[in-house]
Amino acid sequence: MRTPFIAANWKMYKTVHEAVAFVKELRVMAKDVHDVEIVIAPPFTALRAVADAAHASNIGVAAQNLYWEREGAFTGEVSAPMIKEAGAEYVIIGHSERRRLFGDTDQTVNRKLTAALAAHLTAIACIGETLEEREGGQTFAVLDRQLKDGLDGLNADQIAGLVIAYEPVWAIGTGRNATPQQAAEAHGHIRGRLRQWFGGLAADQCHVIYGGSVKPDNARELVSMPDVDGALVGGASLDVRSFFDILTRSRPQAAV
Ligand code: PEP
Repeated sequence: MRTPFIAANWKMYKTVHEAVAFVKELRVMAKDVHDVEIVIAPPFTALRAVADAAHASNIGVAAQNLYWEREGAFTGEVSAPMIKEAGAEYVIIGHSERRRLFGDTDQTVNRKLTAALAAHLTAIACIGETLEEREGGQTFAVLDRQLKDGLDGLNADQIAGLVIAYEPVWAIGTGRNATPQQAAEAHGHIRGRLRQWFGGLAADQCHVIYGGSVKPDNARELVSMPDVDGALVGGASLDVRSFFDILTRSRPQAAV
């Protein structure tokens, strides 16, 4: 049984002050929630402050990106060991905004994943098709390519500890979420490929979460679908009440 995994992707929102205020409020609200893995991904500038504010709580901290070299002349970049030292245990890799706006490819995603794992960070690897690809009947082929190239060289143990976020690009920030059936179909496909390529144990342990316009009113239905192990939440994670409602509605039914 996989623990539901709910992560907030704050993108380029929140000052250090706002981020810390959010986490202080959330840790009180969520103090009794032990059956959901809760993760916050603030901008780099707030990473250390958020890690301190979340210290000794049930809230984990993620970076939103990394560069694969340890250090060097790479102006503007941040390495996996630096992220780890700043107090994060997780990192989002290959978000569609990074692919679309900043040149991430399946190959750079693979290098970033490898660097994250070497630094003992839990990676949240994002994949998903565009609307054009879905309408062209290419969804599974795109997912296969992103998985095959992105996860190249990883072993079954590494896959077991990975979080894969299925985020159809057409659902991100659009208010148009995938239907629960569309999500379940894509997640079932992803899990099937993981089973085929990395074995049953790794496939059963790997978290496959959904992202794309998740809100309090659709979270329960999406997260209760087979093979959907949680959510990566953008816009609706910026408000503490809304994020808390999403994680409450994602708790295993018996606990709610
Ligand atoms: C995201 O940024 O990963 C995301 C899913 O955004 P939103 O929830 O706003 O669609």
